[in-house]
Amino acid sequence: MTGPRIDVDLDAIRANVRAVAELTGTPLLAVVKANAYGHGASDVARAALEGGAERLGVVDLAEAFALRAAGITAPILAWMHGARTDWLAALGAEIELGISSLAQLELLDIGLGRLEHSDRSVVVHLKLDTGLGRNGISALEWEAAFTKTAELERRGIVRLDGLFSHLAGAGHEADAAQLTSFERALALAGRCGLTPSVRHLAATAGSMTLPEARFDLVRLGVSLYGLSPFSAGADCPVALRPALALSAPIREDQRGYRVDVGHAVGLPPVAPGSLLFTDDAGADWRLVSVDALELRIEPVDADVAASENPAERDEERRLLVIDADRSASADDWAAAAGTINYEVVTRLSARIPRRPSSLGGAASAGGAGIPARTDGLAPLRELTVDVELLRTRMSERARGLAEALAEGTGARQAARMFSVDVSADAYGLGARLVADLTLEHGLLPLVATTTELAHVGEAARSSTLVDHERTRDAGTRAVYGFDGPGAHAAVSLASELVHVKRVAAGHGVSYGYDWVAEESTILGLVPLGYADAIPRRVAGRAEVVVGGRRKPIVGRVAMDQVVVDLQDQEAWIGMPVSVFGSGPQDIRLDEWAAWSGVEPRAFVAALGTRVVRRAVQGDGKVQADAR
Ligand SMILES: *Cc1c(COP(=O)(O)O)cnc(C)c1O
Repeated sequence: MTGPRIDVDLDAIRANVRAVAELTGTPLLAVVKANAYGHGASDVARAALEGGAERLGVVDLAEAFALRAAGITAPILAWMHGARTDWLAALGAEIELGISSLAQLELLDIGLGRLEHSDRSVVVHLKLDTGLGRNGISALEWEAAFTKTAELERRGIVRLDGLFSHLAGAGHEADAAQLTSFERALALAGRCGLTPSVRHLAATAGSMTLPEARFDLVRLGVSLYGLSPFSAGADCPVALRPALALSAPIREDQRGYRVDVGHAVGLPPVAPGSLLFTDDAGADWRLVSVDALELRIEPVDADVAASENPAERDEERRLLVIDADRSASADDWAAAAGTINYEVVTRLSARIPRRPSSLGGAASAGGAGIPARTDGLAPLRELTVDVELLRTRMSERARGLAEALAEGTGARQAARMFSVDVSADAYGLGARLVADLTLEHGLLPLVATTTELAHVGEAARSSTLVDHERTRDAGTRAVYGFDGPGAHAAVSLASELVHVKRVAAGHGVSYGYDWVAEESTILGLVPLGYADAIPRRVAGRAEVVVGGRRKPIVGRVAMDQVVVDLQDQEAWIGMPVSVFGSGPQDIRLDEWAAWSGVEPRAFVAALGTRVVRRAVQGDGKVQADAR
């Protein structure tokens, strides 16, 4: 393989499960949400089960369905649902539901009423907010929710299997307080007639630091992948083996050496010189810069490179971009970027091929875990591509081409000047769609590297130019609307509120309690996290639009969700949320780009696989629904 590649060591996954099982002595649920933190959901799920995990956990039903489609029959728990969830589909695929509010229990009652006189019922785990202030039934609603659940059990609609909660990791005292709160909830549930057989509170960190939090099940995420949940330097009581390695060929051009991976495939912004790498031949390299599409590197020992020019070797030399044993680790990247190892691996684009390797079990080259359908299975996370706008801009470009030819510019040169760059899957808009539109307008599509050709449709491939030097093409950025402040981008990103709750003054929100409500307020939960669209570094800066008004994201950005302070905004589950767009009230893409420290095209190109892409024509008709 000549392009970038991710190797996933499934033996390491199995070994990590065994190591944690040995320490905790508790049954394990392997968390494989967000394409298994970027590692490839179905392969990791199988390896984790082989390693001894008994259950699997994901965020939404679409992720659960993708595992079922891959032939996995183990119990799967999915704990975040949109307003229009198809509960019957969950029952049909035997997916267990994490339920986060009284309102959701009412929705279940409405959606599954027909089960009342059948012998089928859906298995639920009630998710309780014991202090994280995020997803989960708030303490004010516990009694009502338990009573409602008992009623649904009596009517044969649901079967309660579990009660669970999630720790904020805001220090030992705060975790202990959540533990006490969880125990109070268990007692109350008992008094309401509930008999949950699986009580679970701890994820990786809690399972290691708070043995009393293990209960009947531990939900294992980051440690499954061989990464520590503790900040760099803090001791992890289990020896873990990182499972993921990213490598890519070293290329030489007029400006020096480069590797064709950048922000567009999810690598975070880092300062020049902040990372050192090794290549597969053992030579050392220093990071010069990262941009949307590439890393620039220079040899640490200049003599070595001069005497053995990597570009002239017969064999391709690969830079180990992430490799814990031999080069920069995910922890090194996280330290350089001011983030956590979770984000570094999870944001790696599904466009980079994954190659699972294993000595001990069957490995398959499973796909990126992209579900076949998401309607009714996942909360709304939708990228809309404005095809009419792309057409208009391409027509302008076609006129430019005609003028250049009339002025006597050579045909070859003109074709290049007016080509449209469709690298990085057309920066997330879909290379097939954009390349076809380009040809329709008499223009040529262009990609940076031959590996990028994989995303261009069969029909357009033979007409597509391959040219690395296209990166300074401002004209292409104008087609997409990626060119400068206030530009009207051809894409917009929409979501919905999946949870709304009122909290009292003093209520902390999300991991670490970085944000605490100053006064009583209404919080909304948006099902987009750093796996999807919202990098961690925008915390404290970013806003979204709800009900036509800008509302701040508060607390830390989690992998799957963010909390929005709605203040006095009237709000409901299913209420539309605009992340960026070009409407009068919308936040522009370039504002998000500035908050996140990457260019607009890289920001869109790095959106995760749970974001569904829809191309809409001028008449509102949906042309394609694929990602
Ligand atoms: C992601 C997640 C986990 C896994 O957490 P780690 O810190 O990665 O072990 C566990 N439980 C819930 C509810 C989660 O969302």
